[in-house]
Amino acid sequence: MSEKIPTRDVTPDPVEHHTPREAVTQQMYASRSHIYVREIKGIFQRLRRASNWALMLAFFLLPWVPWGDRPAIWFDLPGREFHIFSATFYPQEFMLLSWLLIICAFGLFFITVFAGRVWCGYTCPQSVWTFLFIWVEHRLEGSRNRRIKLDRQPMTPHKLWRKSAKHAIWLTIALATGVTFVGYFTPIRDLVVELPTLQAHGWSYFWVGFFLVFTYLNAGWLREQVCIYMCPYARFQGVMFDADTLIVSYDAARGEPRGPRKKSLGHEQARAAGHGDCIDCDLCVQVCPTGIDIRDGLQYECISCAACIDACDSVMDKMGYPRGLIRYTTENALEGKPTHILRPRLMGYLAALLVMVGVFAWAVADRTPLGFDVERERNQLYQMTRDGRISNVYTLTVRNLDNRAHVYRLEASGLPGLTLDTHEVSVPASDSRQLVVQASVPPEAIDRPSVEIMLRLEAQDADIAVERDSRFIGETR
Ligand code: SF4
Ligand code: SF4
Repeated sequence: MSEKIPTRDVTPDPVEHHTPREAVTQQMYASRSHIYVREIKGIFQRLRRASNWALMLAFFLLPWVPWGDRPAIWFDLPGREFHIFSATFYPQEFMLLSWLLIICAFGLFFITVFAGRVWCGYTCPQSVWTFLFIWVEHRLEGSRNRRIKLDRQPMTPHKLWRKSAKHAIWLTIALATGVTFVGYFTPIRDLVVELPTLQAHGWSYFWVGFFLVFTYLNAGWLREQVCIYMCPYARFQGVMFDADTLIVSYDAARGEPRGPRKKSLGHEQARAAGHGDCIDCDLCVQVCPTGIDIRDGLQYECISCAACIDACDSVMDKMGYPRGLIRYTTENALEGKPTHILRPRLMGYLAALLVMVGVFAWAVADRTPLGFDVERERNQLYQMTRDGRISNVYTLTVRNLDNRAHVYRLEASGLPGLTLDTHEVSVPASDSRQLVVQASVPPEAIDRPSVEIMLRLEAQDADIAVERDSRFIGETR
């Protein structure tokens, strides 16, 4: 019996695979081929453009909207105040932000289970800015075929002018994006004056520069690479799909066998001649921003933008065939099975979403527009006053979260004869005050070294009150 274990060389045969043996290990990463996206018109593209313009207008205009003497939306990080129209939130209320993020996540899950990656195709900032940059490219360099031709040409003054103009406009959009983004954190009316006069804060220049480069590279150069290789959502959205999820699909049963034919051949005649409805014109591939062929089936690169639907519908119209060879449909519908819209998983997400929105709305509505923190002076246990009383010192932080000024009455309770040296504090709207307060009691009131007391802050002109517990330290007699 041989002592050798029989082995077999399974390295791909370079001759059989038409590939040099060294290259077998070198092809781990596919080189990128530039995608020249063809512009297409259609109902879904009108919908997508409307959504894109609405979102961009909201993004660019919101920081300019005034609210009293401040911007309506202003995340004031140094001041630790987050203004959203009439409401002001403080870091202590970050619980609400967590809720909001959880609601957004569940909203995304719900939409994905229901209609696939419509978020990606219609509203994701990466898609919105990429489509804008492609639109600029189209206006300056021409249609898809012209762009391909232009890129193959050697550099000429005409090509240099068009390329330079395109990059200048891309950079201008990227700069506007950076300034607007920073404008959510620094009042934008001041920012646009301070930036060119070099009076802005160093961090403002850094973040404007960062978002300028980020936008220019992502929307101008990387484009579909961000969706395919960098976006985590693209990776896990597949697990949320089921056979009833609305997806962009090619109807292979209707389209195959594909192939060109004379336009004069009517639909019925083409069918009788053994043709499917797909004329293999490749238009659905040319309009795809991620460069895939939807006829190969559902792929994770598909961002559900429906450009291929509009493209194919225009071809079907020209051929006189019924629309919908590529359409929004479900796996079940394609297989001739009924589609279940109200299914348990979707209902589960909807129920969770509704509950969370309800709780969030209740938390916001029930929110007391007054922040009150009490901190006992730690360096000193207690003091004796000149008139023989025992006193403790507290630092109070009062945050008026309302949109009008208030005068608050301050009271303390929990010990007989407990008095404060301050009884009132006035705080402007959306502002805060810190004050040091002395509480004192007669010595006979102390029967334990540490007693729990309560400080109450109440607005004099509104039904707003907050109570905080603290401790009073003294010496028993
Ligand atoms: S396959 Fe169609 S829907 Fe998917 S990304 Fe391409 S064009 Fe958009
Ligand atoms: S656009 Fe329609 S007809 Fe043309 S190749 Fe794509 S699926 Fe076939």
